Amino acid sequence: RIYMDNHATTRVDPRVVDAMLPYFTELYGNPGSVSHSFGSEAMEAVDRARASLAAAVGASPREIIFTSGATESNNLAIRGVTERQRRRGDHLISVVTEHKAVLDPLERLGRRGFEVSLLEVAGAGSPQMGILDPQQVSDAIRDDTVLVSVMLANNEVGAIHPLAEVGRICKEQGVLLHCDATQAVGKMNVNVEALQVDLMSFSSHKLYGPKGVGALYVRRRQPHVRLQSQIDGGGQEGGLRSGTLNVPGIVGFARAVELCLDELPSERARLAALRQRLYDGLRNRVEKLTLNGPVLDPLDFRLPGNLNLSFADVDGEALMMKMRQLAVSSGSACTSANPEPSHVLRALGIDEDLVRASLRFGLGRFNTEEDVDVAIETVATAVERLRRLGQSSQK
Ligand code: PLP
Repeated sequence: RIYMDNHATTRVDPRVVDAMLPYFTELYGNPGSVSHSFGSEAMEAVDRARASLAAAVGASPREIIFTSGATESNNLAIRGVTERQRRRGDHLISVVTEHKAVLDPLERLGRRGFEVSLLEVAGAGSPQMGILDPQQVSDAIRDDTVLVSVMLANNEVGAIHPLAEVGRICKEQGVLLHCDATQAVGKMNVNVEALQVDLMSFSSHKLYGPKGVGALYVRRRQPHVRLQSQIDGGGQEGGLRSGTLNVPGIVGFARAVELCLDELPSERARLAALRQRLYDGLRNRVEKLTLNGPVLDPLDFRLPGNLNLSFADVDGEALMMKMRQLAVSSGSACTSANPEPSHVLRALGIDEDLVRASLRFGLGRFNTEEDVDVAIETVATAVERLRRLGQSSQK
C-alpha cells in the first residue's frame, strides 16, 4: 500500500511517538494539579512545548492557545472575535476556497445577521489559479468590517495566498486578520509578525504529529485581540479554552513542528522533486490530463507536496475504486464526509466533469521515488482501463 494523502492526515513520525510515550506511562499528571510533582512535571512539559511552538511561528508563549485541532481553532477565532467585538460592525470577509472549518462558521454567522463577503481567486487559465489577489481584500474592506479570514495554503490545490500583503492591507485599515495556516505550518516558513496576522490556526496531525491537538495563535502585543471563549469550565488556557490539556498530544505536536523546521529546506526540495517526477511520469503515460491549481514553479505559488490533476473522461470515484492500494483523494462526490463535489475546484472555474475526474496527490515525508513510480503505473493503468470501458459502453 502507498499513502499519498498527506493533506488529509499524516503518519505520526516515530520520533514524535518516542517523545510522547513517557507522558502516557510515567508523567501522566494533570498540568492543572501543580501542588504535586506529577502535575508540575506535566505543566513543565506543556510550558516547554508552548515555548517551542511559539518560537516556531514567531509568537510569544502566552499567545499560543492549545485546542483539539484546526477546526476548533478556526471556530474559536471566528466566533470568538465576532461575539466579543460585534459593536465594531457585522461585516466579515473571507475567500470562496477556504476549508469548511472556516466557511461553515461564517455561514452560521450569516444566518445570525452578519454579512459575509467571499472573495474569488484566479481562475483556470491563470498561472496563479487558486491564488487570491490582495487588491480584492482592500476593495472589500468597509467601515463595518470586523474580521478578514484568509488561509495561507489551500488543502486541495496547494495554492499559497500572498498573506503578508493581505496582512499589510488589514493593518493599514485597522481590521483584524485570521489565517488558517493548517496546511502551511511545517511545510514553509510561517511567521506571525512577517504575515501581520492577529489570529492563526494550525494542527498537529497535518505535520506528522498526533490527531486531536492543535493551536490558535492570538496576538497579545498591541493591538491586543479580544476573544469570547467557546468552551467554558476549568479556566485553562487563560479562560479561552477550558478542559484538561492533552499533555502527550501537546508534547508530540511541539516535537513534530521542531522536526519539520529542522528538515524544512531539504524536505521542500525533496518533495518538489518527487512531485515533478510524478507529474512528468503521468504526463508521459496518460493523455488528456490537466493541472488544477497554480503552476508548480515557483515554489512560493504552491505547496511542494501537492499535485491536483484531472483525467478527462474518467470518474474520480471509479478511478479510486480501481486503485485501492494507492491512497489519494478525489474532488468528486462521496469520497469524504462531504457529499458535494469539491467547492474549491468549482470555484476555480473547472468544468463539473473535470472536477469529478480529479485526483489530489499529497506527497509527504515517508514517500520515496519508488512510491512515485508505482503510483504513476497504477494511475496510468487504471485511467486506461476506465477509458476503454467508457468507450465500449458508448458503442
Ligand atoms: N483547515 C484546513 C485548511 C485543513 O486542511 C484542515 C484539515 O482537514 C482543517 C482546517 C481541519 O483541521 P483539523 O482536522 O485539525 O480540525
